[in-house]
Amino acid sequence: MLDLLKELKDCDTVAISGHVRPDGDCIGSVMGTYLYLRKVFPEKTIIPMIEKPAPEFSVISGIDDIVTDFQPGVPRFDAFIGLDSSSPDRYGDAGIYFETAKKTIVIDHHISNEGFGDLRYIDGEASSTCELICDLMDRSLADKEIAMPLYIGIIHDTGVLQYSNVSPKTLNTVAWLIGYGFDFSKIIEETFYERTRLQNEMLGRALIESITFMDGKCIASKIDKKTMEFYGADSHAFEGIVNQLRFTKGVEVAIFMYEVESMEYKVSLRSRGLVDVAKIAKFYDGGGHARAAGFTMKGTFYDIVNNISDSIAIQLDEE
Ligand code: 5GP
Ligand code: MN
Repeated sequence: MLDLLKELKDCDTVAISGHVRPDGDCIGSVMGTYLYLRKVFPEKTIIPMIEKPAPEFSVISGIDDIVTDFQPGVPRFDAFIGLDSSSPDRYGDAGIYFETAKKTIVIDHHISNEGFGDLRYIDGEASSTCELICDLMDRSLADKEIAMPLYIGIIHDTGVLQYSNVSPKTLNTVAWLIGYGFDFSKIIEETFYERTRLQNEMLGRALIESITFMDGKCIASKIDKKTMEFYGADSHAFEGIVNQLRFTKGVEVAIFMYEVESMEYKVSLRSRGLVDVAKIAKFYDGGGHARAAGFTMKGTFYDIVNNISDSIAIQLDEE
């Protein structure tokens, strides 16, 4: 197994990054790794670099240390740790530091990850990147502050320990983490379930305007740019919509998309299990997991739905 501390021993500068539009697992793994390495190596320059996390993640200690706007003139890091990202282009603006780093370490659990980086710990079966970080840690060096973001990541990527990606190892890891005594119930409530008024309005709208097809096996909805501008909504406002669509009785695949540019949509797919949505997302240059994946595509809502539904039909026919 990758010996993280040994690999970083001689590195003075370390960047830790994750994917664009960071979710709970991305933020949790970046912050858990950051807090751990900062504790073990207080003399090193260690920089967490991802897009600004949503406000509910401010319970994580050190979250303000995250660097979001990169200065022109690229420092060459001794090591770049890339987390929760299935390919280098997922690092967004931080990708340049991946390109220039002397050593790259990739830790990820996306089934669509084909393997990249100098050193890797990639397990497509693992619940979350946070679970993988817990595998790699010297647990005797952990503390409550480090454990909390790692717990958040596991909770978010498993739908509160519900999805099929949960294994006995996941639960053992969670058992160890909550032993540190943070208020895990409050954390789930405030980072996972709680919705802003705007998020609930967007959810309501997306549910009402959704369409079903293929005998109710598929459901799709969208929020377009005009609506986003009217409500002042950004991608954070759409958190949880695709999952809620998936809960519709009879649905195998849920599709939610929002317009990022005129006639260009960020698409999220969720599957109940029969359809491998990672395969579909990968076909359109995206990625993800068998039951949760995404990609970006040009076209109208209906163009995109047509494209995806062909791919879904092929898989359902095979079943
Ligand atoms: P979401 O639908 O919540 O944005 O993403 C679901 C899963 O698919 C996440 O694991 C996310 O990292 C992955 N994913 C979403 N969009 C993309 C994309 O455009 N490219 C890749 N490679 N993965 C994506
Ligand atoms: Mn993840």
